[in-house]
Amino acid sequence: MYRKSIETLSPYIPGFQPAMDGTVIKINSNENPYPPSPKVKELLGGFDFRQLRYYPDATSQPLRELIGAQHGLSSKQVLCGNGSDEVISLIFKVFFEEGDTIATPYPTYTFYKSVADIINVGVAFVDTAEDFAIDLQGLVNTGAKGIFIANPNAQTGRLLPLQRIEELLNNYSGLVVIDEAYIDFAGQESSACHLLGTYSNLIVLRTFSKSYSLCGIRVGFCLADESLIQAMDKCRDSYNVNHLSQVIAAAAFRDREYLEATVKRVVDTRDMLADELRNLGFTVYPSEANFLLCQPHGRSASDIYDYLKAQQIYVRHFDSPRLSDKLRIAIGTEQEVEILLRHLREYAGSDP
Ligand code: PMP
Repeated sequence: MYRKSIETLSPYIPGFQPAMDGTVIKINSNENPYPPSPKVKELLGGFDFRQLRYYPDATSQPLRELIGAQHGLSSKQVLCGNGSDEVISLIFKVFFEEGDTIATPYPTYTFYKSVADIINVGVAFVDTAEDFAIDLQGLVNTGAKGIFIANPNAQTGRLLPLQRIEELLNNYSGLVVIDEAYIDFAGQESSACHLLGTYSNLIVLRTFSKSYSLCGIRVGFCLADESLIQAMDKCRDSYNVNHLSQVIAAAAFRDREYLEATVKRVVDTRDMLADELRNLGFTVYPSEANFLLCQPHGRSASDIYDYLKAQQIYVRHFDSPRLSDKLRIAIGTEQEVEILLRHLREYAGSDP
């Protein structure tokens, strides 16, 4: 009854999802600790619910125009999706078929493989170095039809400089997908968007989930050469982004001042937390994202995870080979981070 490729798959498992009753500190899913722009609240307050009887704008055209203009691109170079996860699925549907292979660093965002597995596309994982630096030549050497790079990389937060991406594009003619879910925390100067006019085999992925604090509305988008977007548009689900999500995303997108202020707050807290964790004896990997990957010394990451969980503080603990004995901590509010640090100091002072 099922397609063969489905039999060995397991469903995507997000970080633990506690009941959000205001007493827990949830820093396990790289969400933004601050609310979305107040313009979103304003919009929802005045929202005419009767509008919901109409289908949404089928192509998310107003949102595409806004996003395109901000990046100095035409709306024909933008495509919106139900979260960037949907855009990732669409990329596989449009550009790869059974038997093809994509290459991606290891570790990285696990969803690329989840989608590839469904349609029997192979995934060539290319190990990152000890410090999680990405081996670009290794990716090219796989001979894969496409290369997926999350930048900053998921799980590690490490940023690949723009110049290296340019080198890759000069050296490789397959499809290059640069997933910039976390780029706003690294700075726009590092974005591969600057290369879109030069390379027609490049897709840059973005999301409203992280810097815009809008995980809950599921809107992502990609920027690419018009010909690639045209092909993706043919395979998109009809009305793939619902009306409320389109208008909320647009309101948040227009509020650049709030975006910049929130990003700065998260980045300042990230850098402070990294210093404090180092003072507590953790190895903290350099991160340009809204989370930190770190490794404790003297105590196991899994014990610390359990201890924090007992205090209602949820961080992420991975079991996979390169990430074993490491914790990934999303940046909370200044207050949440103070509470986290207080518990970590107490734990450090207790008997092992
Ligand atoms: N890309 C990366 C690297 C991610 O970490 C995530 C979510 N954690 C996504 C894409 C998906 O984001 P969304 O579907 O919420 O837009």
